Amino acid sequence: MKHNFGAGPCILPHEVFQEASKSVVDFNGLSILEVSHRHKDFVAVMDEATALVKKALNVPEGYSVIFLQGGASLGFLISALNMMRESKKASYINTGAWSKKAMTEAKKAGFEVLEAASSSDKNFNYIPKNVVIDPSSDYLHFTSNNTIFGTQFKEMPISDVPLVCDMSSDIFSREINVSDFDMIYAGAQKNMGPAGTTLYIVKDEALGKSTSSFMPTYLDLKTHAEKDSMFNTPPVFPVYASMLNLRHLIKNGGVQGAQERNEAKADLLYNEIDNNPLFEGTVAKEDRSNMNVTFLMNDESRLDEFNALWQDNDIVGLKGHRSVGGYRASMYNALPIESVQVLVELMKQFTSKG
Ligand code: PMP
Repeated sequence: MKHNFGAGPCILPHEVFQEASKSVVDFNGLSILEVSHRHKDFVAVMDEATALVKKALNVPEGYSVIFLQGGASLGFLISALNMMRESKKASYINTGAWSKKAMTEAKKAGFEVLEAASSSDKNFNYIPKNVVIDPSSDYLHFTSNNTIFGTQFKEMPISDVPLVCDMSSDIFSREINVSDFDMIYAGAQKNMGPAGTTLYIVKDEALGKSTSSFMPTYLDLKTHAEKDSMFNTPPVFPVYASMLNLRHLIKNGGVQGAQERNEAKADLLYNEIDNNPLFEGTVAKEDRSNMNVTFLMNDESRLDEFNALWQDNDIVGLKGHRSVGGYRASMYNALPIESVQVLVELMKQFTSKG
């Protein structure tokens, strides 16, 4: 068995792979890949996937759950276009690469983009606490978990203007209060399912209110809310596999259960990083992500030796992002604690040998 610490696409439960693969051969007498998306058997899949998102996150009345394509990268633009109101000013908390891309798209949508806070002074290794929101902003946007830099908002920002969040890399990993947000969006390929679909959870009141003069039909979330994500051909297989994964999540204690397991995994690895003299975390302790653990190995002369050790022990995906260097252990919902134990044991073994 491989221990997959990859940042995304990433590990999903083995049972989900097994069931999803069966459906490629036989979903309802036809393969899931050939069945019409208008067939009642697929409509039932879309309905169940939508209902399971609502159940897992306790989505209150008055919100729509939508599955689209385009990834969170299109979500940067879709969120901006749909949230545009009178002022055409938008505030963004800049916590690194993904926030910056979101800001770029908001500018392309026609916004004056304001930086409400930034951690760029320290290569994004912390979550900025002093958030200054221009009260005339149409919304405040933030990235709840910064996949590249390994930081995570432990408390969501408080805002008088509507809150919009890119939750791509920690949705379903911890409990959230959906009613705090006007819009949440997330690429599927961390904790929801395979790449290919993007989840939007949007307050119905926010739909159809955009002042943007440019609003293609597909980019208008109202289009999809009104058609239950069936305006055009949805990404049938990613939605089906996401549904299986959400069933698995609910069966295993829901988001609360996942959160407990994720906290235990994070404690285990951060403890080793803090206590092992050869390793060092890259992020301010209070802002450390439970999803993406970024760390360095202090002895340059032994890098090759450490890399060979984890690779020889079936660990994959541990290399850090080029903008941070070192290592990144991504520990999404489906990563078992046993994989983290293997990594921690190797770190101990490596240090005692040196
Ligand atoms: N936001 C975050 C926080 C991400 O981690 C990623 C990449 N997985 C993206 C946005 C971009 O997502 P996508 O590749 O689905 O466009």
